[in-house]
Amino acid sequence: MSTDIPTEQWAQVLEQRGGSVVHKKIPVPKPGPDEVLINIKYSGVCHTDLHAVKGDWPLATKIPLVGGHEGAGIVVARGDLVKDVEIGDYAGIKWLNGSCMSCAFCRTADEPLCPEPDLSGYTVDGSFQQYAIGKAAHVARIPKDCNLEAIAPVLCAGLTVYKGLKESGARPGEFVAIVGAGGGLGSMALQYARAMGLHAIAIDGGAEKEKMCKELGATTYVDFMTSKNLVEDVKKATPEGYGPHAVLLLAVSEKPFQQASEYVRSRGTIVCVGLPANAFLKAPVFDTVTRMINIKGSYVGNRQDTAEAIEFYRQGLIKAPYKVVGLSQLQEVFDLMEQNKISGRYVVDTSK
Ligand code: NAD
Ligand code: ZN
Ligand code: ZN
Repeated sequence: MSTDIPTEQWAQVLEQRGGSVVHKKIPVPKPGPDEVLINIKYSGVCHTDLHAVKGDWPLATKIPLVGGHEGAGIVVARGDLVKDVEIGDYAGIKWLNGSCMSCAFCRTADEPLCPEPDLSGYTVDGSFQQYAIGKAAHVARIPKDCNLEAIAPVLCAGLTVYKGLKESGARPGEFVAIVGAGGGLGSMALQYARAMGLHAIAIDGGAEKEKMCKELGATTYVDFMTSKNLVEDVKKATPEGYGPHAVLLLAVSEKPFQQASEYVRSRGTIVCVGLPANAFLKAPVFDTVTRMINIKGSYVGNRQDTAEAIEFYRQGLIKAPYKVVGLSQLQEVFDLMEQNKISGRYVVDTSK
């Protein structure tokens, strides 16, 4: 153990479901034998963190809770069993903090499907604190030439959309509609899509998001708030008007989940990633059958997907916009997010 680890640290703590987060001092946790302690420098703020605060999902969080699962920092301590992560390494806290490693899903590298997962900032404390714990097997390995501020949103948003695009089966030269393209996951999806040779149609609302989406490489922007016929507008943006080969649903709203089957190309794939509260999928059986539409879910990514998503970033292919504010301002970020007013991602600096 290194000696300069303080006993107390700043954190944002949710003390009551549905309440506001409280910026306060709490003890620095100690890593168990198979864990590392990371001095978190920056953490992205994902809409999942807001779902956790609001209690949107049919899965309880721990309380009190330190949220956050896009934490990038430096390893400062490790347990006795940890051999492959060194003190001083860059590492990241991602959504999957740990898993059993022995179930059928873990054995086949489908660890996000483990029935006994530890979820950062949900069932275990996450990255909205200066020192966070992660299972050594699962922490993201971050190369030293990466910028910790910019890599933070890759740890959930980047990884998740990269995996979602792979799950879509879309191939270079094909079209993918990114629904919620102006948000945190969406802005990353536009960059990963371009890097993967896909043409992206961005769907979101407002002029600020339009400007950002076009700068990030979207071939077309469809504004869901002003379009008179969104289905036609999306189809028109593809060759011969057949519709996109894939749809990545990232929006925090149920309607687009019902709409995607109307514009996806025949034999196309709809990938559900966003997790709006109490939402259901609906698609006409007739069209799904006769147009051979695939509808599926995609949930974060495994350790290999994490390494690949980070490598895209390291190679300079992923430049999604983010704004940095102090950890003390987290509640203000949640308030903006609630109103869909964030273009790209907010990253909190844990030293402020
Ligand atoms: P965000 O708030 O940054 O972005 C959501 C975007 O959706 C906003 O830009 C908003 O304007 C847009 N939007 C709202 N209604 C829309 C509509 N009808 N049509 C098009 N766009 C619309 O959120 P985020 O951090 O990008 O997260 C998005 C969702 O993904 C959340 O529900 C989050 O919990 C979920 N998520 C899922 C996974 C996973 O593994 N499946 C991982 C991370 C996040
Ligand atoms: Zn997330
Ligand atoms: Zn398991």
